[in-house]
Amino acid sequence: MGTYFSNGTIWRGKASYAKTLRVDGGVIVEIDGARSTNDIEVDLQGGFLAPGFIDAHAHPLFAGREGQGPLLNGLQTVEEMVAAVREFADTHPEIEWIIGGAYEAAAVDRGDFLAQWLDDAVANRPVVLQAVDHHTIWVNSKALEVGGITATTKDPVGGTIARNSDGSPRGTLREPLAIDLIMRHAPIRTIENDVAAIAWACDQYLSCGVTSATDAWIEPGMAEAYIAAEKSGALTIDVSLFFLAQPDTWRARFDYFTELRQQIEALGDASKLRAQTVKIIGDGALSSGTAALLQPYLDDPDTSGLLIWSDEEILAAALAFDAKGYQLHMHAIGDAAVRQALDTIEKVIATNPKWDRRPVIAHAQLIDASDMHRFAALGVIANFQPLWTYLDPMNKELIAPRIGDERNNRQYQLATVVKSGTRISYGSDWPVTSQIPLLALGVPTHRQDPAGGQPWSPEEAIPVESSLVFYTENAAFQAFNEDRFGRIEVGMQADLVHLDTNPLKVEPISIPAIKVITTYKNGVAY
Ligand SMILES: [Zn+2]
Repeated sequence: MGTYFSNGTIWRGKASYAKTLRVDGGVIVEIDGARSTNDIEVDLQGGFLAPGFIDAHAHPLFAGREGQGPLLNGLQTVEEMVAAVREFADTHPEIEWIIGGAYEAAAVDRGDFLAQWLDDAVANRPVVLQAVDHHTIWVNSKALEVGGITATTKDPVGGTIARNSDGSPRGTLREPLAIDLIMRHAPIRTIENDVAAIAWACDQYLSCGVTSATDAWIEPGMAEAYIAAEKSGALTIDVSLFFLAQPDTWRARFDYFTELRQQIEALGDASKLRAQTVKIIGDGALSSGTAALLQPYLDDPDTSGLLIWSDEEILAAALAFDAKGYQLHMHAIGDAAVRQALDTIEKVIATNPKWDRRPVIAHAQLIDASDMHRFAALGVIANFQPLWTYLDPMNKELIAPRIGDERNNRQYQLATVVKSGTRISYGSDWPVTSQIPLLALGVPTHRQDPAGGQPWSPEEAIPVESSLVFYTENAAFQAFNEDRFGRIEVGMQADLVHLDTNPLKVEPISIPAIKVITTYKNGVAY
């Protein structure tokens, strides 16, 4: 018994449409055929059926971990945040430590949040909240007490404790070693916690039309949780894992990652899990002055940011992983990091044997004009975050003063990248920004604040249909899954999303109002 879809716009992929679709056994079996007598009929009611969205750069396990605590994303005021923490604490009396995120640090002058504000909501259990930058925490007095942090506690190397004039801690701590003063006392996460986090993340994705994703930051313990999730059935969407290679650990973890990869391959073709990618982070972020630039920052002319790897070491890592059949997924935000990534890929191609390597540069916010043609020439996929392509307060208030308007306004040159012949894929970078594709889909076209306002560098706008391709077919290609999903073709998995309205027929600014009616994963309706 199959399922027969009709009476809507069926978008199969770029400029390709169908009138009807038959799905059977979780697979697309017929396009534009007739209904079989036993078929269940799905009336699309004039809506839009497309391949499920694919999130080609995201962090679902981190998002799921955040989802196990109070969710503060998008809240604008301290009152709203404290209320959310109080509500979570009241409904979860069994949880010893209340750990949540991600709060908007810009809601308070200089980002110093006070412990007392949280004490009003929760006094007897530690509360630890992550800021959206994932480099800052806001804690209550109980957490400061458990961490033993007082006026006499010294700042750890590379970290800071925000203090009152008498030296007492205010409730905000910055950078990993300061955060660890408190978090090393927190209950250890179990693999069961992480499997539950993965299941939650999958539910979030399916509810907004995403049927496949990536986890772009796999450290020890995380792949094990995904394997457990796959074995238990908790993993309900396809996920490709990216092992995180860092300058100080990649050699020691090389064999371990390869062993995990073999375990994942041993799960077989029917498994939803894949692992064939290594993530290499080339630089930081423009907002914090840590993205690596070819020309200095304006606010601090002595610095042009930070390349995380030396040229020699990044090449050594890239050569070693590439030789073992790993795809390179390189985080590069500033133009110097983009150039280092391109140089590295060029040398890998020239040195190692030829294979279908599909290297990726993620974010690619600032690309020097002289490097633009190199993406296509080297077969590099540019992975962009569509929701980032407008002049948001971070670009306007934090980044523009640091790098100047010329460079600021040259960010996210999607139209120029398309024109250069480069393949683009999309990722949300969830939980840094929302995982919901319909919030992002129209932004690279209108390049405006979703609330309205002036378009940002409108000459870099691209058509909505291109964005749809980058979110489906091209994202599948990035993960070597183009034979499994990403288009509507006979023999592919029935990973589909049914929208109430055709996003190609409305004003791009109004796309977020479109509703997901049903997401189909392997033909099963969610
Ligand atoms: Zn990321």
